[in-house]
Amino acid sequence: MTNQDVMQLTNEYILDSYKRFPIALERGEHATLYDFEGKSYIDFSSGIGVCSLGYGNENWLAAITAQAKKLPHTSNLYYTEPAAVAAKLLCERTGMKGVFFCNSGAEANEGAIKLVRKYSFDKYGAGRSDIVTLNRSFHGRTITTLAATGQDVFHNFFFPFTEGFLYAEPNDVASVKSACSCGTVCAVMMELIQGEGGVLPLDQAFVQEVYSFCKSRDILLIIDEVQTGVGRTGTLFCYQQFGIEPDVLSFAKGISAGLPFGGILANESCAGVFSPGTHATTFGGNPICAAGAVAVLNEMTPEFLADVAQKGAYLRETIAGWNLPVVSSVRGLGLMIGIGVTCSHRDAVVQLGEKGLLALTAGADTIRLMPPLTISKAEIDAGLAILKQVLSTYQS
Ligand code: PLP
Repeated sequence: MTNQDVMQLTNEYILDSYKRFPIALERGEHATLYDFEGKSYIDFSSGIGVCSLGYGNENWLAAITAQAKKLPHTSNLYYTEPAAVAAKLLCERTGMKGVFFCNSGAEANEGAIKLVRKYSFDKYGAGRSDIVTLNRSFHGRTITTLAATGQDVFHNFFFPFTEGFLYAEPNDVASVKSACSCGTVCAVMMELIQGEGGVLPLDQAFVQEVYSFCKSRDILLIIDEVQTGVGRTGTLFCYQQFGIEPDVLSFAKGISAGLPFGGILANESCAGVFSPGTHATTFGGNPICAAGAVAVLNEMTPEFLADVAQKGAYLRETIAGWNLPVVSSVRGLGLMIGIGVTCSHRDAVVQLGEKGLLALTAGADTIRLMPPLTISKAEIDAGLAILKQVLSTYQS
């Protein structure tokens, strides 16, 4: 097929819910992707944070192909090895007590929401089911996670949304306390770096105060690490840099390096909330996806994570050092980077694509970079050269 064939078929037969760039991708090697005519693209997007090990990682490939040959799926009616091992690794590396596996970020957050509501129901009875989330957050595209998302632009068309969400201002403890003051709140849910909202890191002091406040009221803290998790910010999970311990943590995206996998981690007090029959999903803990997750977790040694932090710092410092008039700020942690721009972020990302660099947008004015965590220095420099060339064409 040609690029044109693929685009034409897609446009004819796939429902038109995505704003795609005019790029068709056939294959990848390391952190470089190729279209159907051999044009190469340095990948600073990793499929929106999913392809954490890049393209062609031998250990990951060996793990998922061996598992596909042995046993691709069984359902959760039976025990399988990859899910058990992935769960053990996740608990050992976080200190959490247990995992529920599912298939995506939105589904992980749905599970987290169900868990905190049941925790509260079991302990306090009905009427304490509200969840406070932050303005500019993003938690997914199901009816409930759209309701959880603190952006009015998402609260449209699909009425009625799930009730029971209250919104507070990020980095404003008083706003969170005020939202919780009605006595009906069972949990606060937040991302530590608001990804889709614009790569906006929360202040450490705010996060710690909310954590202490929640603890003092038996209000559970859900940390949504769908985007920040699995090595993306230079630690296995981002909360490990914030001096807090979530009650419930959701993850997805990079956990299986390209396969649809996700889950929630629950601490000691939340691990017993789900009992048989209260929550389930057919594909949850799928052996191939779980084998991919085991390979990812085994790859994420302290040295690997330190390298992510170092590469992120190099990218941020280099971009900030250009002092380009169009760049208003450079933010982020590890390889989750936001470049605030005064030009149209979408227009800039289209131009980057034309020149052979894949990047993302976030919020209203941010170019978001999320390369594979395994990206090489040579690929970073090649991508930076394109980025500088394109951003230099804008005056301010
Ligand atoms: N939560 C956060 C923080 C996200 O960034 C996203 C997706 O971008 C989601 C949840 C939803 O994940 P998914 O698209 O896998 O459902």
